Amino acid sequence: MDRQQEFVLRTLEERDIRFIRLWFTDVLGFLKSVAVAPAELEGAFTEGIGFDGSSIQGFARVHEADMLAKPDPSTFQVLPWRAEAPGVARMFCDILMPDGTPSFADPRYVLKRTLGKAADLGFTFYTHPEVEFFLFKGLPQDGRAPEPVDQAGYFDHTPHSTAHDFRRNAITMLESMGISVEYSHHEGAPGQQEIDLRYADALTTADNIMTFRLVMKEVALEQGVWASFMPKPFTEFPGSGMHTHMSLFEGDRNAFYEPGAEYQLSKVGRSFIAGLLRHAPEITAVCNQWVNSYKRLWGGPGYDAGQGGEAPSYVCWGHNNRSALIRVPMYKPTKGHSTRIEFRSLDSACNPYLAFAAILGAGLKGIEEGYELPAGAEDDVWALTPAERRVLGIQPLPQSLDEAIRTMERSELLADVLGEHVFDFFLRNKRAEWEDYRRQVTEYELKRYIEVL
Ligand code: GLN
Ligand code: MG
Ligand code: MG
Ligand code: MG
Repeated sequence: MDRQQEFVLRTLEERDIRFIRLWFTDVLGFLKSVAVAPAELEGAFTEGIGFDGSSIQGFARVHEADMLAKPDPSTFQVLPWRAEAPGVARMFCDILMPDGTPSFADPRYVLKRTLGKAADLGFTFYTHPEVEFFLFKGLPQDGRAPEPVDQAGYFDHTPHSTAHDFRRNAITMLESMGISVEYSHHEGAPGQQEIDLRYADALTTADNIMTFRLVMKEVALEQGVWASFMPKPFTEFPGSGMHTHMSLFEGDRNAFYEPGAEYQLSKVGRSFIAGLLRHAPEITAVCNQWVNSYKRLWGGPGYDAGQGGEAPSYVCWGHNNRSALIRVPMYKPTKGHSTRIEFRSLDSACNPYLAFAAILGAGLKGIEEGYELPAGAEDDVWALTPAERRVLGIQPLPQSLDEAIRTMERSELLADVLGEHVFDFFLRNKRAEWEDYRRQVTEYELKRYIEVL
C-alpha cells in the first residue's frame, strides 16, 4: 500500500465516511459510479472491483465482459453535497482487464496514452476550459421547449437572481472539492452561464470536467432548477461551447512562449496550431459528438435571427478573431508563461478525455512533422463569400454529425489516438445516432409543409 492509499484509508476513518463512490466514464462521456464500503477499499486498491463491462457503453463485448475498476487515490475527494454523517467520498478509477492490463475501452486510458506520448517528447499538456451551460426552470417533458431561468444576457448582473445564487453556490462547492474557478458570468443567451476553471494538467482537467457537470446538476436540483449541457437547446439563441485554452510545458517552461516572436508564439506553438488546423475536421466528431452539436457550429454568427453566436464554422486561426476556430489570446507582457491557444469548437457535452486526447494527438503530429502554420485570418470569416474563403484556403468544419463521421472514418490519426476498439465503437454508435435522427419527421417540417403542400 502506498502513501496516498494510506492517506485515503486514514481519512475515511477520521471523517466517518461510509460510502466511497468509484467513478469512471463510458466512451460517450457519461459518468458511471459504483459505491463500495470502506472495508472493500484495500482490495480495490490492490486488485480493483469487478463489474460487468458489457453493460457499459463501449466497454466490452458480452463474451469478454469481466472488467475491474481500480481507484486512483490521487483523485480522492469528500463529496460536499452529502457532507452530513455518514459522509460520502469519490475517486476516479482506471479500468483494467481481468489480467490487470489497462482496458483499451477506458477513455481515461486513451488520454493517458496520448499524454505519455507527449511526455516522451518532453511535454506536459495543460488545459483550462470555459464551460457554458443553461439553467432551466425545470426539466421539460416530451420534447417541449425548455424555459430559461432568466432573460439576462452577456455579463449581466441581476440582483437576487437564480443565476447569481446558483453560480455562488456552485463555485463554493467546486472550490471545496479542490477545483479552482477563475471566472464566472452570465453568458449571452437567457439562462446561460459560464464558469471557467483554472488551468491544470489535462488528465486533472478532464476529471474536473466530469465532476463539474455533476456538481452543476446537483446544485441546480438543490435550487429547484435544471442544468443542461446540451449544445444548442434554442434555435434563436447561442449554444453552449467549451472553449479550451491549452499550452505545452517543458518542465516549468512554457514551450509555446518565445519572447519577441510574433504573438510571442514559439515554433512548437505554431506547429501545434498547424497540426490542430490540419486535423480539425477529422477530430470534430469527437469534439462535437451529438446531432445537436452541429446546430451550434452551423447556427451562424449573430445572436439575432436564429443564429449560433460565436461558435466556429470554419477552420482558421486568428489573434483577435472570435469567428476563428483557434484564437491566440492577447499576450500580457507580465505573463510570458500564460502564452496559450484557445480551441473554440469543443462543446460542453463532449467526452473530455477523448476530446483532449484527439486535440493533443493533432497538435503533437504538427510538432513531429514540422507542419508550417498557414497565414492567420483576421477577417470575420462568416462575412466572407464562399469564393473568398476558397481563395484564402479556409475549409469548413463538418456541417453535420453525418459528415463528421465520414471524415473521422478516414482518419489514421484518430484511429491511432483512440485505439481500434474505441474508434470502431464510437463510429458504430454515432452512425446509429445519425440514422435514427435522419428518419425523424420534425416539427419544422410539419409547420413548413403540412399546409402548403
Ligand atoms: N456560446 C458561444 C459558443 O458556442 C461562445 C460565446 C463566447 O464565449 N464568446 O461557442
Ligand atoms: Mg469566456
Ligand atoms: Mg463564453
Ligand atoms: Mg473563449
